[in-house]
Amino acid sequence: MNYQWATATHIGLFRTQNQDAVWPEEPGAGEGPFVAAVADGMGGHAGGEVASRLALQAAIARKGTATQRVAAANRAVVEGVIEEPALSGMGTTLTLGVFGPDGHLDLAHIGDSRAYLKRGETMRLLTTDHTLVAELVESGRLQPDQVDNHPQRNLLTRAIGMAQEINIDTAADDLVPGDKVLLCSDGLWNMVTEENIASILELGPPEDSAWNLIEAANAAGGLDNITVVVVDAS
Ligand code: MG
Repeated sequence: MNYQWATATHIGLFRTQNQDAVWPEEPGAGEGPFVAAVADGMGGHAGGEVASRLALQAAIARKGTATQRVAAANRAVVEGVIEEPALSGMGTTLTLGVFGPDGHLDLAHIGDSRAYLKRGETMRLLTTDHTLVAELVESGRLQPDQVDNHPQRNLLTRAIGMAQEINIDTAADDLVPGDKVLLCSDGLWNMVTEENIASILELGPPEDSAWNLIEAANAAGGLDNITVVVVDAS
């Protein structure tokens, strides 16, 4: 498989720090294996920024499956707190994909960053949000239209760094030429409808799509840090 990728991250219009982190740092192309990831840090002071970067570094350095990489990221953030107790409470989401030469996509995920697969006219969410509101909707105790105004809409039920052992979600897909994969932080999907995301992905190469997604989130209010990875398979 040939992959062409681009990434973009932006502070948004209201935050004073960008606590998101993204891999890779530069656009590129290749046959795979290729690793891409988005992390959205949380925690007071510098904590969120430290957590997302620590997680990403550990996940990239660890050679192995997506799950092994995410587990390594968790250990790194947990150990980071032990070494620097002032950072206690820091954590991060991590959504990571390993794109194989044969088109196999191996995904591992914790938190509320997301992965989407766009194939033809259809865009599908590959991840589940680990948020309180998503669990309430899943169990029927909250209606989807009540999510936007829920006082605890940002509360994560799972995050990297919150416990020594974490339950890591996995997903897999066999990509075909023409597929587009998007990894993104909630600063995108909270601001831009899936329909709009899908139509932006349609236009132009990954580099254009990545920056157009950032622009769309900022045009819609830019309430949070925004981070995207766009991967085209051909
Ligand atoms: Mg965020």
